[in-house]
Amino acid sequence: MAEEDSNPSQAAAEPELAPYLLESARSSRSKCRTCRRKIDKDTLRLGILLEGPFGTGYLWHHLLCAARRRLEDVEAAYEQHAFAEGLTVPPLADLQALKEKAEKAREERKELPYVERAPSGRSKCKNCGKPIAQDALRVVLAREVSFGSQVRATPINVHPKCVHAELESEDCMTEVDGFEAQLRQNSELEASVMDQALAAIGALES
Ligand SMILES: [Zn+2]
Ligand SMILES: [Zn+2]
Repeated sequence: MAEEDSNPSQAAAEPELAPYLLESARSSRSKCRTCRRKIDKDTLRLGILLEGPFGTGYLWHHLLCAARRRLEDVEAAYEQHAFAEGLTVPPLADLQALKEKAEKAREERKELPYVERAPSGRSKCKNCGKPIAQDALRVVLAREVSFGSQVRATPINVHPKCVHAELESEDCMTEVDGFEAQLRQNSELEASVMDQALAAIGALES
């Protein structure tokens, strides 16, 4: 089996490769396709079979990197029991929890402000205090919150129609200047939905 993922053609003579291979790295020569760093010998790695024009071989990922960025593949590998008898692998539930944590962290790093659809009906508008319906558009703005002597920008959800009032409040850290441009840049919405959101927000004076 090919050790070097950079040259999948070496494995071309082995047609019977499983779609996934979870194993303990046999050397330190492979590189993780997720984080681009080296995979140390004896570290758990997930191979995802790539059938390319130059042959078939595994592209490797640290198991933990794969769990964070492509959990579907890890779940499939567990389902297919794509590892040798006797190999100690972490419980799938741990990897699923890892993914959730990673997603949360990514979410927290998201540039504010942005518009999104509310994933559930549990959030409340921080401006008017009323709930935001599931799948309704909500605008995420930055509000100043102090932790002891530190002041931080915390994301808050508001109804589009409440954006105007929130932007005028004293502890709002989102600027009115360039607001629409920032919103368009940071949001992952179709243009037509974005227009709908902006219409609901209404004209802003800067
Ligand atoms: Zn990695
Ligand atoms: Zn509101």
